[in-house]
Amino acid sequence: MTSLPSGANRTELRKIGIMGGTFDPIHFGHLLAAEESRSALGLDEVIFIPSGDPAHKRQRRVASPEDRYIMTLLTTLGNRNFTPSRIEIDRKEPSHTVDTLREMRHWYAPEKVLFYFITGLDAVLGITTWKEYEALPELCRIVAVSRPGYPSQELGNLPENIQKAIIPLSIPLLSISSTEIRQRLHNGRSVKYLLPETVEQYIRKKKLYRKKLEDTIP
Ligand code: NAP
Repeated sequence: MTSLPSGANRTELRKIGIMGGTFDPIHFGHLLAAEESRSALGLDEVIFIPSGDPAHKRQRRVASPEDRYIMTLLTTLGNRNFTPSRIEIDRKEPSHTVDTLREMRHWYAPEKVLFYFITGLDAVLGITTWKEYEALPELCRIVAVSRPGYPSQELGNLPENIQKAIIPLSIPLLSISSTEIRQRLHNGRSVKYLLPETVEQYIRKKKLYRKKLEDTIP
């Protein structure tokens, strides 16, 4: 069962960032995106939610939900404004953002909280394939994070009500990517300074990302 986050039941309006991603593995680019979003949007805290069963990722093997959650926990330990959540990891059904946001609404009085769902621009561009995506603007603002210079014009192709809910945010140094880290680990290359040392130690201890990268699930 997911425990109530700190600050729930408070009376003043709270702005909560919800950092969603597969986090396979989580890295400094994600931390920077969360911190930049927090300061740019004046968020009270950022809750990191690794996807449990990414329904849309069935073509590629990902590290187990538990491993991705533990890496998220290790990464967020040092920042008191960052909290990892098991909400999607513990859900038996496939992860859908709309379900997560509705469940989180029950943690707070709806009129006292504004949610900001933070994720990569690439993911946001695919939003019309998400379950009940039309309902998302009622539940949150959507922060579409990209690296500087990355073209965000394609956001203009999304339905108007979705566009209105989107806040594009370009983050310096976001060029670190989970795919690049997995490739490096697979090829025996260093991942130093791309992710926290504790996460690297965890990956090596659990022998993650050694297998052929694009293994498909039978
Ligand atoms: P992803 O593979 O995790 O990420 C897509 C791109 O965005 C990658 O370049 C990734 O970089 C970057 N990224 C991901 N999360 C980020 C973050 N919080 N801040 C900055 N960059 C980030 O994307 P995904 O698995 O499709 O999902 C992203 C979020 O959308 C998840 O919360 C997921 O549950 C949600 N989603 C929901 C549905 C649905 O409701 N049906 C469907 C699809 C996605 P890295 O590779 O370096 O992480």
